[in-house]
Amino acid sequence: MSAAELNQSAEQRRQALKEVFAQAGACVRCQELAATRKNVVFGAGNADAELMFIGEAPGASEDERGLPFVGRAGKLLETLLEEIGMERKDVFIANVLKCRPPGNRDPMPVEIENCREYLYRQVELIQPRVICSLGNFSTKLLRDDPTGITRLHGQPEELTLGRRTVRLYPIFHPAAALYTPRMLETLREDFSRLPQLLAQPEPPQPEAGEADALAQVAAAREKSAPATATSPVRASGGGATSSGVAPGGGDEPAGAVDQLGLF
Ligand code: URA
Repeated sequence: MSAAELNQSAEQRRQALKEVFAQAGACVRCQELAATRKNVVFGAGNADAELMFIGEAPGASEDERGLPFVGRAGKLLETLLEEIGMERKDVFIANVLKCRPPGNRDPMPVEIENCREYLYRQVELIQPRVICSLGNFSTKLLRDDPTGITRLHGQPEELTLGRRTVRLYPIFHPAAALYTPRMLETLREDFSRLPQLLAQPEPPQPEAGEADALAQVAAAREKSAPATATSPVRASGGGATSSGVAPGGGDEPAGAVDQLGLF
């Protein structure tokens, strides 16, 4: 994203997000996921949201419908949002992986690496003020650190992702809270502090030149240490490449569900 892009209007950013959606919709970087998915679950909601949620990966219901968090965990997320006076349409919900891992297995580092560009582009274009990472998986990835959610939940911190600085607010994953009443209580308490966090001024953003330099350094680091099935995946940078995107991706992917209807 260039300095000019940083100053785009919400409508221009929304259009750019649709292009990223089209790219992701035709993505074949992860052969296994591309071969087994029913839908690419890009994410849905308000393309100009102040608040973004990032989960792990689509499950069976999400893969079926092409929308994130539409199963039981999603219902809980909606209830918690209602309790703080918000709705799904106010926020943007996405996942680290845009395709369902078969059998709901954990995402592999190489898959996260392949998909990270889409997530960072989403963050750059939506320009949220606050990102809630849901559970261990997205929290560890975004912070580039193995510290777990039990220690970190409910503690906001500033974090630069790609070219955007946000307040990261790690909270428990709603799926985990479905089965553990004490976790649900904690999740509810952490949720109740979200309006206060959203009312804070935006964190200072990196200067355009500085942001480009940061992104270049991160891209170079990735080149020298490519992701493997066991290596940790860094959560900085976000150099864009179009490799792995099937040619001929039009405005929207063929057979796309009404995922964009929400933003
Ligand atoms: N869990 C996630 O992490 N993401 C979804 O979209 C659904 C369940």
